[in-house]
Amino acid sequence: MSLDMTNDRIPYYHPTGRECALFERAHDNGLPLLLKGPTGCGKTRFVEHMAARLNKPVYTVACHDDLSAADLIGRYLLKGGETEWVDGPLTRAVREGAICYLDEVVEARKDVTVVLHPLTDSRRRLIIDRTGEELDAPEGFMLVASYNPGYQSVLKRLKPSTRQRFLSIAFDFPEPDAETRVITAETGLPVAQVVPLVRLAGHIRKLSGMDLEEGVSTRLLVYAARLIGAGIAIEEALETAVVQALSDEADVQQALRDLIATIY
Ligand code: ADP
Repeated sequence: MSLDMTNDRIPYYHPTGRECALFERAHDNGLPLLLKGPTGCGKTRFVEHMAARLNKPVYTVACHDDLSAADLIGRYLLKGGETEWVDGPLTRAVREGAICYLDEVVEARKDVTVVLHPLTDSRRRLIIDRTGEELDAPEGFMLVASYNPGYQSVLKRLKPSTRQRFLSIAFDFPEPDAETRVITAETGLPVAQVVPLVRLAGHIRKLSGMDLEEGVSTRLLVYAARLIGAGIAIEEALETAVVQALSDEADVQQALRDLIATIY
């Protein structure tokens, strides 16, 4: 079977560069990988696609500011009066030689980095303090993390000592032709209706940084296209999937509506 073939088992992913080959090489060589880019640009889909191509399970963890090392490694739980150790997703991935994907890793609590360091250097070892176990990651185990440089604040930044343990690939929204293909493939909306959506996105993304924290994501365009495909009027679909989704401020919302009016 050609690895480039997309079938029902392999989630659809449209590559925008050499990321698939790089992922495979990183995987084959036991190297951790960091995917950088704005929200909704295809990072998670890419990991799901590559995991399926490599025929491996992927344990995805959506990191948040309360996520601790124990959430990744595991903890003792009380079961019928007995305490029993239960592996967390990272431990499971290490034991199985699977892929562990830490989405928005900068959000996690600081103690998580302590766990990641021995796992992401030449030791490739997971140290489970609570049980005294030390697991050597088998060939095939791969740690993938993502983060959004756009959201970076001084407080939440990946320390150099952590980020320099990962290979990094920069992601961005696909070029217009590619984005058109992605939205068409994802939603089945005719190309003629997708093209203006992508044009709108291009205009909105030029605004980002000024009034908008971030430009409209491919994910939101997919939502808009789904609504339009389901018979919702374009104006209403864009109000819901673009205007209200991007901003709470009346003047910014009006600027977005004005932009929409120049295209539709
Ligand atoms: P991220 O993880 O970067 O926040 P996702 O991977 O969840 O974003 O992407 C959001 C949606 O955008 C996906 O569910 C998919 O519909 C679409 N998408 C974005 N980029 C691509 C791509 N290159 N190929 C296929 N689908 C894509």
